[in-house]
Amino acid sequence: MSNPKSRGFLSETAALAGAVIRAMRITAVNFIRKPITVHYPEKPRTYPDRYRGLLALTYDKETGEENCIGCRLCEFICPPAVIKVEMLKTEKRNYAKTFTLELYACEFCELCVQVCPTDAIVMTKSFDLSTGDRRALLLDKDRLHAIGLQHENSWATGNKLRDMQAPPKKVVTGGPA
Ligand code: SF4
Ligand code: SF4
Repeated sequence: MSNPKSRGFLSETAALAGAVIRAMRITAVNFIRKPITVHYPEKPRTYPDRYRGLLALTYDKETGEENCIGCRLCEFICPPAVIKVEMLKTEKRNYAKTFTLELYACEFCELCVQVCPTDAIVMTKSFDLSTGDRRALLLDKDRLHAIGLQHENSWATGNKLRDMQAPPKKVVTGGPA
């Protein structure tokens, strides 16, 4: 009959050896794997089309006019109430007289983009606005337009997002049975 003490020692040694082998196998696999570190910002990263980055205001590509009509829908929908818009009424159309966005409290929920009737507010494929000063993240109309010109816009716009949510068209059934 074998000694229970030596049986315990042998099973513990076997478990330990198994753990060491498993750990060494993981080390070996990672040793030959290519590094995945990206040397940002020297090497820019590619972001997905729907990336929710910095918010921006847009211009009409054909006329060069501001797309924002100052309707304040984005202000009303914004959950943390970080958008403030003042409307400027003119004969032909309305504009945003002032437009401010407190980016430091933004939740990046995209609701403002979703409700905008003129695709004036969008998200960009960039988060490149880090700062140690919170005041630098209070964006006014000019800075929001500048961000829109500087960075690539995400795919999502208000009209595209609303189209995606439209109820499916009615199925047309065949003629009389
Ligand atoms: S993304 Fe959401 S939280 Fe940020 S400004 Fe738009 S509605 Fe407000
Ligand atoms: S960004 Fe769009 S939703 Fe907001 S005020 Fe301008 S037009 Fe209206």
